[in-house]
Amino acid sequence: MATLTTEELENKELTRQYKELLRISYQSLSPKDKKMIREAFNVAVDAHKEQRRKSGEPYVFHPIAVARIVASEIGMDAVSIAAALLHDVVEDTPYTLSDIERLFGKTVAVIVDGLTKISHLNKDKDVSNQAENFRKMLLTLNEDIRVIIIKIADRLHNMQTMDSMPADKQVKIASETLYIYAPLAHRIGLYNIKNELEDLGLKYTEPEVYNDIYEKIEESKEQREEYIKDFTNIIKASLDKEKLEYKIKGRHKSVYSIRRKMLNSNVSFDEIYDKFAIRIIYNSDRDSEKFFAWKIYSIVTDHFRPNPIRLRDWMSSPKSTGYEALHITVVGPKGKWVEVQIRSERMDEIAEKGYAAHYKYKQGDESEIGIETWLNRLQETLENPNGNAVDFVEEFKLNLYAKEIFVFTPKGELKSLPKGATPLDFAFHIHTGIGLTTRGARVNGKLVPLNHELKSGDQVEIITSSTQKPNANWLEYVITARARSKIKNALREDHKRIAELGKEILTRKLKHLKIKADEKIFHELAAYLKLKTSFDLFYRAGSGSLENYQIKDFVSQRSNKFISFFKSKMRRESGEIDDVKQEVTANYDMLVFGKNEEKLDYKIANCCNPIPGDDVFGFVTVSEGIKVHKKDCPNAIAMQSNYAYRILKAKWEDSTQREFKATLKINGIDNIGLVNEVTKVISNNMHVNMQSVSFESDSGLFNGKVVVVVRNNTILKKLIDNLKKINGIDKVQRV
Ligand code: MN
Repeated sequence: MATLTTEELENKELTRQYKELLRISYQSLSPKDKKMIREAFNVAVDAHKEQRRKSGEPYVFHPIAVARIVASEIGMDAVSIAAALLHDVVEDTPYTLSDIERLFGKTVAVIVDGLTKISHLNKDKDVSNQAENFRKMLLTLNEDIRVIIIKIADRLHNMQTMDSMPADKQVKIASETLYIYAPLAHRIGLYNIKNELEDLGLKYTEPEVYNDIYEKIEESKEQREEYIKDFTNIIKASLDKEKLEYKIKGRHKSVYSIRRKMLNSNVSFDEIYDKFAIRIIYNSDRDSEKFFAWKIYSIVTDHFRPNPIRLRDWMSSPKSTGYEALHITVVGPKGKWVEVQIRSERMDEIAEKGYAAHYKYKQGDESEIGIETWLNRLQETLENPNGNAVDFVEEFKLNLYAKEIFVFTPKGELKSLPKGATPLDFAFHIHTGIGLTTRGARVNGKLVPLNHELKSGDQVEIITSSTQKPNANWLEYVITARARSKIKNALREDHKRIAELGKEILTRKLKHLKIKADEKIFHELAAYLKLKTSFDLFYRAGSGSLENYQIKDFVSQRSNKFISFFKSKMRRESGEIDDVKQEVTANYDMLVFGKNEEKLDYKIANCCNPIPGDDVFGFVTVSEGIKVHKKDCPNAIAMQSNYAYRILKAKWEDSTQREFKATLKINGIDNIGLVNEVTKVISNNMHVNMQSVSFESDSGLFNGKVVVVVRNNTILKKLIDNLKKINGIDKVQRV
């Protein structure tokens, strides 16, 4: 057969399908809506033009079928129909998300983006392991709930057309459907779709069981119709007498729910008494609906004995999904129990389509507002499972929204983190090596600070650099224990390296002063400087905060043995308490206040006399500035309860460990390589972190601004000196 003919046929089919899509839309569509759908249709056809499905048909028939489900069976709005048409475009074709946004606006783009993320996830081979995470993520996603609805429609169509797939894939997809999508469909009130998903799921996971039950249902069809006829005949006269317009239908239980019942109650197919329900659907205006329902109820129970504990009034209190009806189980013809569902036509449509129908009825031509309201309600329903909601939610109550968020790697892998986690937590979660070399992070493509709080659905990318090292501030950026302990370890390692270097430096300096460096001398010097251990001494030497004059002073006082002896005697005599105090002071010599840990003037409170290292807080007094109290000061509770706003957070710090920011202005004559030279000097300088840098050159003059983070002034001075040595640099100033 000539390919042209096939193409022509396919084009004809496309036109037909487009018209039908508009015709079957449950919501009424404005000319603007139709235009958007038309454009989405064209983009989908164009984007997928080279692709075919496994069955051989053009790929675009799939998004069209999904759009049909969305438009007709679920009854969604034009935005959803357009997004359904486009749902695989970004994933599989050269079109990008910004193309979609440009052509169809932000809302459609957000929905397509959500769908693309989910489908990334599905390509992950490990999806069954991730299923639990995945399900939770779907529910915690803060995006448009239409993403979930379209995804359900997508899955339904894939399940309907799964025959040409390899068997192992069928089983995998079917299990996922049973585990994730059917419960979701139930949750948002798409009962018909839920039943179909479950039946198809069973068909591919347990084909024999499915076929067995399916055949038995078919076999019993006649019997069932007979039964409904008997039932109808008994009440027909009474209903007609009331001049009611009504239909009586028998609705069979789904294959899946019969299977479940067989398993749960351990009974055979024949022993299940309520394999189908009888539906009485009546015509009524809004005002008389309830009245008629109870009238029908009374007629039914006049003829058949009801089981009063099986009365369900979903009219007075509808389900959270919007379902309304009156259910009663009665002893029907032949003495069999049968459930009777009494619904108006409006209620019946709600049962089929959920809130979409609800709001169509409620708001008439304001259907736009209607659907928005519905979507919000659905979102709420998903977010707040409560006693009134459908039964399966128990397990969701555990974790929903409480403690976990779910974020994506750039490859679309899903990771679970505790709520409040930051990109730095994420980096350590991926790999310690990545965490330790984190330089920055992008969330959804935008650069964010390392302490940015992540949200469910975020895509997180970590930027690393081999020269990056953790610093003490990082401990404040992370909330996971894993990240914290890795950072602490790294800092400890770093301190050790600095101390080792410091020992060498110190040995050299002492040698210079004709003193043989040994453990004894180090110990003496540490004691002289009121440091706790020789490690602290080495660390100071290594980090550049030990001044040369301090060493010289030590050497000269040491040479005077008499003074030295006298001093040590004094120290011994001054008693134990002082020694303890000195020890603590050695590590905590500075108080900082508030969230920004500022250095402020303060006085020590007389009532509790805190010493360095105590847990303390600052209290802003009326006339004496900040007074520092111990947290367990007898007056603390009174101050905190009466003057909470005057309380300042306070913390003891080791001044040599504290980092501060300095801005340097650099001027000089512009020449090639100067910028390079400057950044090289800064990054080669130990213990200096560059936070921001900007350079400009103006008619041969060079102006630079660099913000650096350093531990102390000595280091900063050294850096400035080194910068000044660069050829062409004229001035380096701290501002
Ligand atoms: Mn799809």
